[in-house]
Amino acid sequence: MENEALGMLLRRGIDLDSMAQLVHELQVPYNPTLTVEECRESVSHVLMKREVQYAIITGVTLDEMAEEGALKEPFGSIVREDDRLFSIDEILALGIVNVYGSIGLSNFGFLSETKPGCLGRLEERGGVSTFLDDIVAALVAAACARIAHNA
Ligand code: MG
Repeated sequence: MENEALGMLLRRGIDLDSMAQLVHELQVPYNPTLTVEECRESVSHVLMKREVQYAIITGVTLDEMAEEGALKEPFGSIVREDDRLFSIDEILALGIVNVYGSIGLSNFGFLSETKPGCLGRLEERGGVSTFLDDIVAALVAAACARIAHNA
């Protein structure tokens, strides 16, 4: 299941390294000796959780089905248009953040708002990433929270 989830992220242009890079950028101000490798490990740990894998599989499947026109209307159009008021994508991703407690919440909000690094590249890539952008923000935020808890 873990490989399945990671494979789906890769297929959508998101790899472990680009998430680790974001984790590092966010955490190194608080933890100057933190290495990218440690951040990579933290993201890997988050990806080992079954509830996280389910969120990835659900979100990526919905994005891909919307892209293929395979979702029923009006749901398909709503997902394709990524309306700001459609917050089900965020609610799904919050399940990932909540695994590591509320400390991940502020990072999740910051990442969703500013879309740095691989999150910005998702938009440039084209296609539907309505659910994926929140999921990646949540994975990064959760990995940051893990590091903050262990520090
Ligand atoms: Mg979204």
